[in-house]
Amino acid sequence: MKTRTKLPKERCAVCGGRLQRTTITHEERRGTNLYLFQNVPAQVCTACGEIWIKEATLQEIDRLIREGEPIQKVETPVYDFAAAGIQ
Ligand SMILES: [Zn+2]
Repeated sequence: MKTRTKLPKERCAVCGGRLQRTTITHEERRGTNLYLFQNVPAQVCTACGEIWIKEATLQEIDRLIREGEPIQKVETPVYDFAAAGIQ
């Protein structure tokens, strides 16, 4: 899922479409670690589907990575095209 992380105005900064509040599952990569955040408040563009997250919400994500207690941990299968001999 593609997610923009800049704070938009009332309108989508990509296409000018109307934004609608929603909650999403956000993936955050830090080095080799992948963090999942459920029920993250966000705004989705009703025209192009671009997803926007407020700066304050991003700061909460940073804080949770540093100090938060995850509700669960999941194993993530990793595949490699080169290792599988696929070109
Ligand atoms: Zn848009």
